[in-house]
Amino acid sequence: MTQTPASFLPFVKPEIDEETIAGVVDVLRSGWITTGPQNQAFEAALSEYCGGRPVRTFNSGTATLEIGLRIAGVGPGDEVITTPASWVSTSNVIYEVGATPVFADIDPVTRNIDLDKLEAAITPKTRAIIPVFLTGLPVDMDRLYAIARQHKLRVIEDAAQAFGASWNGKRIGAIGDIVSFSFHANKNLTSIEGGALVLNNEDEAELARKYRLQGITRTGHDGMDCDVLGGKYNLTDVAARVGLGQLKHIERFTEQRRKLAHAYFTGFEGSAAVKMGMGLPLADLVNSNWHMFQVTLPLDQLTISRAEFMEQLKQRGIGTGVHYPAIHLFTLYRERGFTEGMFPHAERLGQTTLTLPLFTQMSVADVARVCRAIDEICTQYAK
Ligand SMILES: *Cc1c(COP(=O)(O)O)cnc(C)c1O
Repeated sequence: MTQTPASFLPFVKPEIDEETIAGVVDVLRSGWITTGPQNQAFEAALSEYCGGRPVRTFNSGTATLEIGLRIAGVGPGDEVITTPASWVSTSNVIYEVGATPVFADIDPVTRNIDLDKLEAAITPKTRAIIPVFLTGLPVDMDRLYAIARQHKLRVIEDAAQAFGASWNGKRIGAIGDIVSFSFHANKNLTSIEGGALVLNNEDEAELARKYRLQGITRTGHDGMDCDVLGGKYNLTDVAARVGLGQLKHIERFTEQRRKLAHAYFTGFEGSAAVKMGMGLPLADLVNSNWHMFQVTLPLDQLTISRAEFMEQLKQRGIGTGVHYPAIHLFTLYRERGFTEGMFPHAERLGQTTLTLPLFTQMSVADVARVCRAIDEICTQYAK
């Protein structure tokens, strides 16, 4: 076991208040611990947050993406366009429903799917698009939906990282086609594990409910029927209670994250690291919820690898992460025909990206400490 300093700064840490902890205890004592009243309350609160659109909870953001595709009618023979710069879940679900992922490279500035390349990747087989709002930065929603309308494509927004983000003053989730959120422990709003689908109408919401739990309805023979092939994706009431407790704080969470992101930009201004070529994210302090703050390391100017750089930060009491290696270079994807060089921007991002600490209970002084440590390491290990 390696020793870490007492003041270790992790790259992420959820903030759960005492009221939520007490609420979870109440649920545990209530006699009903799986999907029930807390889920109903969580769905109602999420729906209100999303401008009154129907919302159904699930036990993961991966489940919501997969069921979102099924509700959109995506299946064998269909192509779905997405980005290779995401968590592998985004494209695994496309295979899961029997369809084929088609990747379009990212725009190196936004690090989100390049909408010109997306448009160029459309074929007669294209049925849907899964845009990913990486680190909580939305894509150009006006352009995205103009493309979708023109080509009659469904959109399943992978907004796993974008709860609390907005587009031109409208909340992500309150606009768009099908929207998929994740409430994994590291996300801006967490239910430990979990997710939610924002849907267009009650028919889609009912279908989501069926897909969530074995396709069961309360009609039919002996008071029950099963008319679609559903799975087992329901959220527990313990988890829903955690999510409800988080939702109260979402505006403050987002505000604090924007403040910390701003502190990073200030801290890196004129820094040795930036002079050496370290890349910063797009400075959007309006739409993005700053789920993560990611830099790209100037590895060609350094004598150490990214792993060694991370180890140097760890020795200084700073935790970091890598989100994410390009999906198409994973073995499963190589076996299905993807190769190196296909999506150079996503590949380069995957090789050089580093996620710095950013969570609600962090301070501006913590950010300054991270910036100083990065400069120190860059200077010490400059070629
Ligand atoms: C977290 C995440 C998912 C998957 O969510 P889970 O709740 O972990 O299943 C999908 N896409 C992106 C971009 C994510 O960050």
